[in-house]
Amino acid sequence: MTATFADGTTAHGDLLVGADGLRSAARTIIDPKAPAPRYVPLLNAGGYAKGLRLDAEPGHMHMVFGRSIFYSYVAHPNGDVWWFANPRQPRELSKAELAAIPWRSRMLELFEKENGIARDLVSASEELFAGWNTYDFPKVPTWHRDRMVIIGDAAHATSPASGQGASMAIEDAVTLARCLRDATGVPDAFARYESLRRKRVERVVAQGKRNGDGKSLGPVMRHVLPMVFKLFKPSESGTDWLYGHRIDWDAPVPQS
Ligand SMILES: Cc1cc2nc3c(=O)[nH]c(=O)nc-3n(C[C@H](O)[C@H](O)[C@H](O)COP(=O)(O)OP(=O)(O)OC[C@H]3O[C@@H](n4cnc5c(N)ncnc54)[C@H](O)[C@@H]3O)c2cc1C
Repeated sequence: MTATFADGTTAHGDLLVGADGLRSAARTIIDPKAPAPRYVPLLNAGGYAKGLRLDAEPGHMHMVFGRSIFYSYVAHPNGDVWWFANPRQPRELSKAELAAIPWRSRMLELFEKENGIARDLVSASEELFAGWNTYDFPKVPTWHRDRMVIIGDAAHATSPASGQGASMAIEDAVTLARCLRDATGVPDAFARYESLRRKRVERVVAQGKRNGDGKSLGPVMRHVLPMVFKLFKPSESGTDWLYGHRIDWDAPVPQS
C-alpha cells in the first residue's frame, strides 16, 4: 500500500488502516458509495472556565440533565473547569449560520433556567468554542477492501451522547491487532475484525442516538432519573453489555 497525502508526502506499508475520523477519506476510497454522516439534532459548545472555586473533585465529570439543556463539566487539578453543553438544534446549520450565533449570550440565555454553576461557567470562560454540528453513522456498510480497512469514527461515529466514541476506537485498534496476529492473511484478518466488532458498535451508535434524543428531559424525568440511578447498579440496569465490555488480548481470535 502507498498512501499519498495532500502535502505530497507518501507512506508505504503492508496495509492501510484508515483511522481518519468522521470525514474519512479512506472510507470513500474503500467504498465510493459510502453514506454521508447523519445529522444528530444537537450542537456542541463549551469552554475553559478560570478562577471558579468549585467544590468538585478534580477529574470527576459531572453531567447535568438540566431543565432545557444537557451540560457537563470537569475540574482540572490546576483549578480550571472544562465544560461543554449540547443545545438542541432540529435543523443542521451551515458554517455561516453557526458563525453568526453570538455564543456567549446564547449560552447565558440557554442556562438561564439552570440551577448551580451553569451561568458561572460561561462568565468565567474568556473564550467560548463556537458551536458545531453533531453527526453519527447508523451504518457504514463497507469497512474494508483489498488491503484497506477503516476503524474508529471513520467506521462508526456515534453521538457524543454515548460517551463511547474514543473507547470504541481503542477497542477497534486492539481487536484489529489481535486479528492480524492470528489470521491466515490480511483479508481473513479484516473479515474476523468486522465479525467481532460490527454488532457491538452499531448497538452503541443506536444507544448514543437515544441518549441524545433524551438530553433535554422534561421535569418528570429529571426527578425520576436520580431514583433510577440509585436503584440499579450498572450490571442490573442492562448497561453491562456497554460498560462491562472486556477484550482478552491473549485469547485466540475465532474464525469469522
Ligand atoms: C463533544 C464531544 C464529546 C465526546 N465525548 C466522548 C466521551 O465522553 N467518551 C468517548 O469515548 N468519546 C467521546 N467523544 C468521541 C471521540 O472524541 C471520538 O469518537 C474519537 O476521537 C474518535 O477517534 P478516531 O481516532 O477514530 O478519530 P479522530 O479523533 O477524529 O481522529 C482522526 C484523525 O485523523 C486525521 N485526519 C483526518 N483526515 C485525514 C487525512 N486525509 N490525512 C491525514 N490525517 C487525517 C484528523 O486530523 C485526526 O487527527 C466525544 C466527541 C465530541 C465531539
